[in-house]
Parts: sequence; structure tokens; C-alpha cells
Amino acid sequence: MTEERGLPAPAPAVSPHSAAFWEASAQQRFLVGHCPGCDQWFWPPNRTFCPRCGQAASLREASGRGTIYSHTTVRVSGSIAIDGAPYNYKDALPFVLAYVELAEGPTVMTNIVGADADVVAVGLPVRVEFSRTGGPEDPALPRFRLV
Ligand SMILES: [Zn+2]
Repeated sequence: MTEERGLPAPAPAVSPHSAAFWEASAQQRFLVGHCPGCDQWFWPPNRTFCPRCGQAASLREASGRGTIYSHTTVRVSGSIAIDGAPYNYKDALPFVLAYVELAEGPTVMTNIVGADADVVAVGLPVRVEFSRTGGPEDPALPRFRLV
């Protein structure tokens, strides 16, 4: 295990449509889209209607557990700017970008943090954690760590 070397956590653009998700993330709660009609979980969570049956969708707190479905290691990266603020991913190299299959079923693109890239493998169990972004509402980015 290694510590992250400053993987940036840019604040997301919070809209009225996504505010409930980000408000929960600031409280370390991981919400996923859910249909109460057919019990389908889905990602991304900001859908108005269930992608399976079309009923009104909602957000529901997920377990935060999952397994690595796929991953890659980013070894070359530049700086990017979001809303004019530069984020330097070079200092965080190498870092892991992955798809995590949640215990509830949906697959989420995310980062695997706290592990050397060469120990990350398909099928390993992970758990969500949150990277604080700062700002007035301090929405936090869901990322995953090996368990
Ligand atoms: Zn449904």
C-alpha cells in the first residue's frame, strides 16, 4: 500500500438535479440511482426515470462495496483546468482508473486509491471512500480502496 500523491479532487458542478447526490457525498453517504418500482439500481444516478421500466427513479444509499471489473494505470498525464482552476495530475502518477461493479449491480468509473498499481486486479473487493473537494458545500468524490 502507498499513500496517494495528491490525486486532485476537483469540485463537481452541482446542479439542482445532482444536488441531493453531492449533499450526501459531503456526508460520506454513497447514493446510487434506484427504481422503487422494479428494484433496479443504476448509474449514473441522476436519471429522472428508470432505464428498465420507465417509472420515476430515486436515489438510494448503497453499501459502498464492490469489485474491480476493469482497470488501467495512468502513467502519463498533463494538467487540466476546470472552471479556470488548474489541477495537476502529474504529481499523482501513476494512478489507477477503474470500473467498479457495485454490490448492487451498476458499474462505476472511478479511481482506486491507496494501492500500488501493480497489485490492483480484476475481481478484488473494494469499498467506497470520499475525497473532499472543499468549497462551501464540500461535495466529495466517491473513489474506491482495496479491502
Ligand atoms: Zn424500474
